[in-house]
Amino acid sequence: MPDPAKTEVYLGLGANLADPRDQVLRAMQELAELLSDYRASPLYRTRPVGPVAQPDFINAVVCGYTTLAPDALLDHCQALERRHGRERTIHWGPRTLDVDILYYGNVHLNSARLQIPHPEALRRGFVMIPLLTLRPNGETPTGDPIDRSRYDDAGLELLA
Ligand code: ADP
Ligand code: MG
Repeated sequence: MPDPAKTEVYLGLGANLADPRDQVLRAMQELAELLSDYRASPLYRTRPVGPVAQPDFINAVVCGYTTLAPDALLDHCQALERRHGRERTIHWGPRTLDVDILYYGNVHLNSARLQIPHPEALRRGFVMIPLLTLRPNGETPTGDPIDRSRYDDAGLELLA
């Protein structure tokens, strides 16, 4: 039974530089230690759309329970991005790892620093398709039904 003092959270991971699969897998290892009853979706490769050539993205969603308040959780996510996600150059390099808070229980929150649920979540196939693997009831944590067919064109490839 989950601890009632803890909140179930869903985090979205994405990377498209510097061995993105490894970036995401290493981030997952750290999040498995941060969250209790940790679960993770498979990894997906997302082909970029449009004429501009850029590397494929690797995306996944993880979930688990935490006693951290939303702001403190964001601090952890951003520290993780800094440790694993930035190129080690003098100037901050391109983003190699993005860790977003998708859902924090069924909380709605709008501050200067944090919007929860993540405002783009429902629009993004690379969020909703992995999320569905963790949500057998087919609904987001805030109760929106997830319509899989809406993301048929999202260009997602399940990685073995
Ligand atoms: P993006 O994720 O859109 O590519 P960043 O990761 O650089 O961009 O995030 C920019 C800002 O988004 C962060 O400084 C953070 O304060 C804000 N933010 C707002 N809501 C969220 C959320 N739900 N999860 C993560 N960051 C968020
Ligand atoms: Mg982000």
